[in-house]
Amino acid sequence: MGLFSDLSSLGFENEDDIEVFKKKDLEMVDETEEIEDFEEKEKIPEEEDYLYEKNIECPCCGLDFDAPAIFASKMRPLGQGIDLRPKYEGIDPIKYEALVCPICGYASLATSFNDIDTMQVVKVQDKITPQFVGLETDGLVYSYDEAIVRYKMALLCDVVTQAKNSKKAYTCLKLAWVIRGKLESEGESLTEEQKKQLEADEDECLDNAYEGFSMANTSEDYPICGMEETTVEYLLSYLAYRKGKYKEAAKYIYPIIANKNISPTIKKLSLKLKDMIRNDYKAATNKQ
Ligand SMILES: [Zn+2]
Repeated sequence: MGLFSDLSSLGFENEDDIEVFKKKDLEMVDETEEIEDFEEKEKIPEEEDYLYEKNIECPCCGLDFDAPAIFASKMRPLGQGIDLRPKYEGIDPIKYEALVCPICGYASLATSFNDIDTMQVVKVQDKITPQFVGLETDGLVYSYDEAIVRYKMALLCDVVTQAKNSKKAYTCLKLAWVIRGKLESEGESLTEEQKKQLEADEDECLDNAYEGFSMANTSEDYPICGMEETTVEYLLSYLAYRKGKYKEAAKYIYPIIANKNISPTIKKLSLKLKDMIRNDYKAATNKQ
């Protein structure tokens, strides 16, 4: 099954063979609104308690819709994974970052929802809206499946509107994180086949993120997707490492370690990643 196959329920039947990054492209290169709330005591908050309804105007059809948004003041960070995926107490906020207009089908990550030009609006109206049959919503809380469908719509819109490589890469990275969130939270109730499919989808998304950020790193101006050069190059190092491209991973990580102006978090993660690259490179060379 292709990445887009589960969008058929929204009206998209022939999206299965879409390539996020065309082979031709690859050959060319080697929020939320803060609202003050009263501090809650004793009661352990439910996912719903972190959310409020936000009204959003669609830049494509001009109509407005409501979507869940997160009270930033309630977020309690628990740390970041080696690929910079953040974790928070009580909620996985990444689930709520992809927005879909329920009227015309335009979708994008919330941070770039309004970054669409007239030509791109026409592409959405021609290629997305006529096929889009609407989106069921049931309350503020999204299941992982509901979040994944919204991300896939965002990625489909990125492809249709010929969005920048960095934008497609960022959507792929976040989609990979949501898929991993589903595997972590629902893993026990999934069949082996379902787990394999999700792992394959996560892999495909991370591979796409690697290709897109590689191209963006040499062709776009920083900051890209709100990230500084060192953050993107750190990500590229990790994404190259997980593909077994150890020399490439090392090429990105050593300048970051030598850089005195990086954040303590990136510094700490970079040292850990450098050891992982070195150990796995040695193990791979010894096997040969
Ligand atoms: Zn719309």
